[in-house]
Amino acid sequence: MTIIDGKEISARLKEEIRIKVEAIKLQGSKPPHLAAILVGHDGGSETYVAAKVKACEMVGFGSTLVRYEEDVTESELLNCIDRLNKDPEIDGFIVQLPLPKHISEEKIIESIDPRKDVDGFHPVNVGRVVAGMPAFVSATPFGIMELLKRYQIETSGKHCVVVGRSNIVGRPMSILLSQKGVDCTVTLCHSRTRNLKEICAGADILVAALGKPEFLTAEMVKEGAVVIDVGTTRVPSSETKSGFKLKGDVKFDEVAHKCSFITPVPGGVGPMTIASLLYNTLLANEHKIYPAYE
Ligand code: NAP
Repeated sequence: MTIIDGKEISARLKEEIRIKVEAIKLQGSKPPHLAAILVGHDGGSETYVAAKVKACEMVGFGSTLVRYEEDVTESELLNCIDRLNKDPEIDGFIVQLPLPKHISEEKIIESIDPRKDVDGFHPVNVGRVVAGMPAFVSATPFGIMELLKRYQIETSGKHCVVVGRSNIVGRPMSILLSQKGVDCTVTLCHSRTRNLKEICAGADILVAALGKPEFLTAEMVKEGAVVIDVGTTRVPSSETKSGFKLKGDVKFDEVAHKCSFITPVPGGVGPMTIASLLYNTLLANEHKIYPAYE
């Protein structure tokens, strides 16, 4: 059994990005610049955005953080997005989710120029992924595909079961895994799926993305399966200073010995997310997905 080391792969990916940025600077070109819009003071969002800004510094990107209070109006936010869409200095930007209830996330995402949508949430990018065209792939699914690739995990003809059908994880995962060249046969499960246990037990590759701590037990996993645990739920803990710890969707201790490969939580899928976002921003800077602006 091999434990997939997301921290190590993420560090490697960031180092590859840093080297490319150095070369861009040496050529006298503009280095990538990522902007983030953060609304309110949610603890989780603050942490994620701070980590993204720090990661930008580490790889030599420029970064801009635009902050708004919780009571910002939708039109103020739309104006800000319009400015970022038009700003030639900014290669890509993200709006940290979730947003306050009075703001439509759908409207906000749709207002981002798809050419700068490095989170890959805009319907144009989602549609391009479905069509197998070059696109900004959202960070978590991109990170998982990268882990499979770098650990040289065979996907062709394998039965992959994805549990969870959210727009940001489960559904794009099912699409990427079924693409030509990856060639899995995919079953996408959700809360209405019947016989979930049996379906999971038939999987060569099992992706758990439902957000229910330790939901997947040993009896749901086939001997020799590859298990990718996306779940990150904060559960109270007296063992840590923060008073909580992160739990995955897989009962790691009883499942791990049955697997050929497994991602731990923390340290598996999670660390790949920011590296993937940086990678998309580099692609935006290099006009690798969409042609350069006139
Ligand atoms: P989500 O939007 O809440 O979606 C959960 C999905 O799981 C839904 O499709 C739901 O089905 C399905 N589900 C819930 N209970 C189920 C059950 N008992 N059996 C089968 N399916 C069930 O969650 P998400 O945003 O995709 O996130 C999933 C987990 O991944 C969370 O723990 C989240 O924190 C984590 N996450 C981690 C990262 C990372 O970087 N590591 C990134 C993103 C998310 P229905 O559609 O029928 O409701």
